[in-house]
Amino acid sequence: METRKCTVCGKEKPLSEMSKSYPKRCKECVAEHTRLVRQRAKNNVAEPTSKIDWEQRRYEIAIRAMVAMIDNKKINNNARLIALNAVEIANAMVKELKGLFV
Ligand SMILES: [Zn+2]
Repeated sequence: METRKCTVCGKEKPLSEMSKSYPKRCKECVAEHTRLVRQRAKNNVAEPTSKIDWEQRRYEIAIRAMVAMIDNKKINNNARLIALNAVEIANAMVKELKGLFV
């Protein structure tokens, strides 16, 4: 039976036990590597959408947008218009951000 040495664990194994995607690694080592990568990705996932306080986030974005607009002298300093625009920007951002967490 033809065998090959795995470059990860160093064991001599039959070709049937070698990975097809990584010919120099055995299936066992590739599976272990895949498991570790998945686990690492799982630990780095963003907080679930349900835990995010979207109203708080909307409020924070609206305030920042408002401050930016007030600082921008090109924009007519009409308080109501600025407030409406700020809320609109916040709504649009929250909508986009929520899409990212689906
Ligand atoms: Zn191996």
